[in-house]
Amino acid sequence: MFTLRDAWREGRAALAQSGVETPQLDSEIIIRYLTCKGREEFYRDLGEPFPAELLARFYQLLRQRGRGVPVAYLVGEKEFFGFSFKVTPAVLIPRPETEILVETALELWQQGDLPVSPRILDIGTGSGAIAISLALKIQNAEVVATDVKAEALAVARQNALRLGAKKTFFRHGDLWQALETAESDSGPRSFDLVVSNPPYIPKGELMRLTPELQQEPREALDGGEDGLDFYRRISAGLGQVLQHGGWVLLEVGQGQAPAVRELLAQAGLTVFPPVCDLSGVERVVKARQQEL
Ligand code: SAM
Ligand code: GLN
Repeated sequence: MFTLRDAWREGRAALAQSGVETPQLDSEIIIRYLTCKGREEFYRDLGEPFPAELLARFYQLLRQRGRGVPVAYLVGEKEFFGFSFKVTPAVLIPRPETEILVETALELWQQGDLPVSPRILDIGTGSGAIAISLALKIQNAEVVATDVKAEALAVARQNALRLGAKKTFFRHGDLWQALETAESDSGPRSFDLVVSNPPYIPKGELMRLTPELQQEPREALDGGEDGLDFYRRISAGLGQVLQHGGWVLLEVGQGQAPAVRELLAQAGLTVFPPVCDLSGVERVVKARQQEL
């Protein structure tokens, strides 16, 4: 009998052979996806037969994964901040380090540094991971999420619906222009908090990315020559939309924090000590507009 355990083992060996970094986990995720099992059920049922009618599909998914398609695209979802987000190749797969940005925002709210019902803008929302997690965690928040890519915004809208996020508004367009569109008559126009995980990979490095990263949308990664294009454009426009005393939280790539701090300081904001991730990288730059 060919059991789930046999399939798991076979998948792991095939993926390891193709150079996949996490073959055991990815083999498990693919099998759980095909058999509709949660983690506990999967471990409980390892001795059960692997359904014969799923074998062809199993091998097909293993081949795709082996060619570098991220497992989240194969199974169509990714967990972020405890919520399951639908993902397609139109959106960046939300990263664990981005949860630090969400946590930092929640702390500001919990400490009373934001109004009880804050107005929040998420620039370049992708799957909606940041915007929707904040909308779900902060009751009465009004959240505007923008993206230049219509297909990404469509995914974010579906995530808001399926996760039950209220008072979340989606705007299509390039950075600040997204706030000028006709739809802008609903939802706030100025904000207590602006958050963004913009594209920040320097153009020259895009060619050297792993096969998995190469499958993600180029416009989600390309931060221009030095990777800082979006930080320049975001800092330049903040004055138009940020309330007095309003906050900005920007995710940055490794080594970019000093330059981004400088840009925000030049824009007249007060810059706070950086927030680091667990590998010691300065991951989130935090700044505040002067109070009146
Ligand atoms: N916020 C999501 C997350 O953290 O998982 C996605 C971040 S991804 C690094 C950057 C996002 O910015 C992409 O969804 C991309 O389509 C969007 N984007 C790229 N250029 C943009 C622009 N000019 N204006 C608005 N959004 C843009
Ligand atoms: N965090 C992505 C990485 O894997 C980059 C995303 C971005 O450009 N914001 O490097």
